[in-house]
Amino acid sequence: MANVKQKLLFRNKDVSTVINTNGSDGSLEKPGRLNRQKEKVNGLTEKAQGFGKPLNDSLEVDIRDFLIDEAELHTYDDLTKVNPVTPSTVLKCLQARYSAKVFYTHAGCTLIALNPFQPIPHLYSLDVMREYHSAPQPQEFKPHIFIVAEEAYRNVQGQVEPMNQSLVVSGESGAGKTWTSRCLMKYYATVATSSQKSQNTVEKIEKRVLDSNPIMEAFGNACTLRNSNSSRFGKYIQLQLNGSQLLVGASVHTYLLEKTRVAIQAPNERNFHIFYQMVKGATDKQRLDWMLPLEQDFAWLPLAERTLEEDCLQETMDAMINLGIDEAKRAQIFRILAGLLQLGNVDFSLASEEAQPCDLEGHSEGFLQKTAALLQVPLDELRSCLTVRNLRAGKQNILKPCSRSECTVRRDCLAKAIYARLFDWLVILINNSMCADTSMWCNFIGLLDVYGFECFLLNNLEQLCINYANEKLQQHFVAHYLKAQQEEYVTEGLQWSFIRYQDNQGCLDLIEGSPSSIFSLLNEECRLNRASDAKQFGVRLQKELSDNANISWDKFSKEPHFTVAHYAGRVSYQIQGMMGKNKDPVPPELTCLLQKSQDSLLHSLFADGDLESEGSRGHSKVITVVSKFKNSLESLMKILHSTTPHYTRCIKPNPDCRPLTFKREEVIAQLEACGIVETINISAAGFPIRIPYCSFLQRYGLITNYRLAAQMNRENSPEINDQAVLGPAVKDVVNVVLERLVPNSTLSPDDNNDMVHCGRTKVFLTQSLLEMLEDRRNRVRSQKAFCIQCCWRRYQQHQRSLRTRAATRIQAGLRSWRVRSEIKKWHKAATVIQTKWRRWRAWMDALAEAELDDAEDFMEEESCVLPKMDPLLRERGSVQLDSIQEPVMVRSWPIGLAIASAPTITVSLTATGFQRIMTMMACLKIPFRHDEYKVETNQFEQGVASIRAQPRGSIKMHLQRSPLLYADRHPVHKADVVTGFNQILLEKT
Ligand code: ADP
Ligand code: MG
Repeated sequence: MANVKQKLLFRNKDVSTVINTNGSDGSLEKPGRLNRQKEKVNGLTEKAQGFGKPLNDSLEVDIRDFLIDEAELHTYDDLTKVNPVTPSTVLKCLQARYSAKVFYTHAGCTLIALNPFQPIPHLYSLDVMREYHSAPQPQEFKPHIFIVAEEAYRNVQGQVEPMNQSLVVSGESGAGKTWTSRCLMKYYATVATSSQKSQNTVEKIEKRVLDSNPIMEAFGNACTLRNSNSSRFGKYIQLQLNGSQLLVGASVHTYLLEKTRVAIQAPNERNFHIFYQMVKGATDKQRLDWMLPLEQDFAWLPLAERTLEEDCLQETMDAMINLGIDEAKRAQIFRILAGLLQLGNVDFSLASEEAQPCDLEGHSEGFLQKTAALLQVPLDELRSCLTVRNLRAGKQNILKPCSRSECTVRRDCLAKAIYARLFDWLVILINNSMCADTSMWCNFIGLLDVYGFECFLLNNLEQLCINYANEKLQQHFVAHYLKAQQEEYVTEGLQWSFIRYQDNQGCLDLIEGSPSSIFSLLNEECRLNRASDAKQFGVRLQKELSDNANISWDKFSKEPHFTVAHYAGRVSYQIQGMMGKNKDPVPPELTCLLQKSQDSLLHSLFADGDLESEGSRGHSKVITVVSKFKNSLESLMKILHSTTPHYTRCIKPNPDCRPLTFKREEVIAQLEACGIVETINISAAGFPIRIPYCSFLQRYGLITNYRLAAQMNRENSPEINDQAVLGPAVKDVVNVVLERLVPNSTLSPDDNNDMVHCGRTKVFLTQSLLEMLEDRRNRVRSQKAFCIQCCWRRYQQHQRSLRTRAATRIQAGLRSWRVRSEIKKWHKAATVIQTKWRRWRAWMDALAEAELDDAEDFMEEESCVLPKMDPLLRERGSVQLDSIQEPVMVRSWPIGLAIASAPTITVSLTATGFQRIMTMMACLKIPFRHDEYKVETNQFEQGVASIRAQPRGSIKMHLQRSPLLYADRHPVHKADVVTGFNQILLEKT
């Protein structure tokens, strides 16, 4: 890692994350897991490595779109195929798959199993098992735990060296390890029975293998806050296969049972399932045998009112029967367990007299009696063992009463010792019933169901051991993963090694190394057999180990502690109690007592107990918890190294075990803890971006003006994607980009650059080169965009001016055309009017003339009838109204004349319609004001209008139809034109 400075950039819509693998001194610098989680979620500074310049959002989205189609993320069966391989894309891919109810995903050589927290129908059915088993290429099927199982099985069949296989299932509590192991066991139990010949024996053994599960789970599993069926031990099961790859036997190896749980349960957690099964499922007879009254409460059985599906005693009993545990043995086992329950109810009170052993609280005497009866040990001895310490001084034994708290510790210690031995004995028993003779089997498939990385608020020796085991497994995994990565590089023809990647050896040295390490110092402390002082030990650790970069101390913390930088995060361990736990002393009095038990089982459990009791006296080598654990882990690692490993990482998608709920923070923390993020970091140390030649040139060809389409047409070959055809073009592009940075750097065809490798079908890039390429591509695109913009603007400008000129012309033409046609229209109209008018005038004149001529004749004819008229009046055509006594009929006179001669008249009009009245008034030129005229209308026959003109005072005027033929004619015939007022009768009133 020394010169690998990678800042992986990953961000998405709602969660942005930065993983810093900046390891200048070869170590991974990581903050505490919880802090880091928070940092990631809230996050974050984003820097594009190499340039130190942030990529803008749209660019990032653009690159992402190029590298991966987000809508298709759920279709990626392998996380290493997502581009770029960053925790963010990996997380997105997993989330997309989980939403699509796809729970298995490959991550290179690892299988990731997301826990659905609900039964998925048909996912593990026999048919599916057979389908995977009979497929010629199961790898081509959807990712499934059965692919891993089948691959391991075929490796054994194919006799590929090494032939033995290991399936490592890891993950945090509740992630599905035990479920997965069960699935794997069922798979082999099914697949290995396919041979008809040996079906019966195999069926028997496979049933036993499967039946070992309920027993181990009843004794080793408990309901915790994280999982209602949490395994409180690690286990490695070897499935033994004969030469025909049939299951002929199995053996189980267990690690670090959490025996403290027998006596101390964390708040809201339960004891091991078996106790609840007994209390809830015992028959009346069993209750009598086990001294378990129905209503009895037990201090060591919290949350007994809650019933889980795991609380089924019958299932455990059946499994025991199937494994050949006879009734007598079963009775012994349950009596011992019942004895422990009774022991839990024994409480101590302060001694009534000084220097006397502690007394028993209230009902404790009864419970102690029952304990003694069930464990078949003498009551008095039991009491004194719990309350009095036996000190040896030289050859003398000195009895020293214990304090109240010491009594409680001894009581718990007794229970823990018995339970742990009983558990180990059961494991041996199970092994004896399943294990095949070594001559019968030649290969094995091992299943490792191991606890995951743990980091609680308070961490002690158990967590140190568990995390140490995970460190060991991680080292093994990384070595295996690197090998797989290397293989891909080899197939792509790349000469590159991960030598620069430094694994977690530093951390392992800190924990288990020699001469001084945490374990060695802890063991030394136990061997010296002095009173353990946490503070002193803390100082010692600091003095001895401060050189190691993986250990640190929080200066502000008052509690003695140390912090270890594990690969999955920093964990702070409290020192208080650590040495005691490491020594795990069982007082010799207790061992002696149990050796005296009348119960043959209990007696045999402690038959070899001398060694430890000797040890605790400091006369022989103490076998501490960590050395035992280290030894068993080493033997496990030896087995793993000699087998082909297959890794399955179980992920718990939410902390509350809710079905189909995916919490991103939760998942990323686990990906980190199970090493997936680490492997991503490793791949980032190599070439996390792999782009096929074709795609590369499609995106970056523009940097050198390379035209892929032209090339493809020319080559016209399906093999266009390969190095020979497109390699030179790709190298040109890369050279241009690198030249910018380092003027003289060029990439010769076979050059293996730190940033890029041209494989057979793909270009391998580092994140930093990808960013450089993107930067260059963007510049080229901006230049081209600028050029296009200029041309486009010029073109637009030209177009606009052309359009303006054309529009002006059109407007001018249209306007002149409209004016001209208007004028033409006016001319035509004027001519028509003139012609008509002239013609009408001429016609009227002619008519009037003709009429006047006729009227003269007519008047002459009638002059004899009419009274004699004033010659002046007759001459001028006017009537002297005052002079006429009678109403005078004025005929043949235009009405205008008649009215003109009346100074003031009242006109009575008869006309139809308003328009007629108005027309008539216009004709008469009657000013319509001051009420000088009263205009009345009345209607006679149609076409006849009369005017009664009534001059003020004396005149009435009648208008009658003229006898003249044309007197009322008008050039235009319209309905509302007034006609016929050509005869006026003036009448004096
Ligand atoms: P671990 O052993 O990792 O602590 P378990 O294997 O006990 O976790 O799984 C916890 C619970 O999750 C199981 O009891 C089961 O209900 C559920 N579970 C795990 N894996 C699956 C699966 N593949 N399908 C359905 N439920 C599952
Ligand atoms: Mg489990």
